[in-house]
Amino acid sequence: MIRYSYETTLEVKIVGRRRKKEEKIIRRSLPEFYLCPNCAKNTVKVTLDKKNNIAIIRCSSCGLKDRVIIQPQTAEVDAYSQFVDQYYGTEKIEGKKIV
Ligand SMILES: [Zn+2]
Repeated sequence: MIRYSYETTLEVKIVGRRRKKEEKIIRRSLPEFYLCPNCAKNTVKVTLDKKNNIAIIRCSSCGLKDRVIIQPQTAEVDAYSQFVDQYYGTEKIEGKKIV
C-alpha cells in the first residue's frame, strides 16, 4: 500500500513536470542591415509591412527613406534589391530631368 502510493506520487510529479515544460523558443534577434546606396554604409533596415504589401526601407545613417511594393512571399532581401533597383532607377530619371 505504501509502495503504491509512492509510485502514484512519483507519477504525478512526472506528469506535473511534463505539463510545466515550456518550449523555449530562442529567437535570435538578427539585425539585418543592408548596404545603403546613398551613403554606402551598412545601415539600411528593411521592415516588411505585409498587411499593406509594402516594405519600408530606412537608412539610420543618412536618413534615406523609401518604400517598395512587395508580394506576400517577398523576403527582406528581395525587398531590399527592389529598393536598390528603384533607387537607381529614380536616380536615372532625375538625371535625365536635370540634363
Ligand atoms: Zn544611407
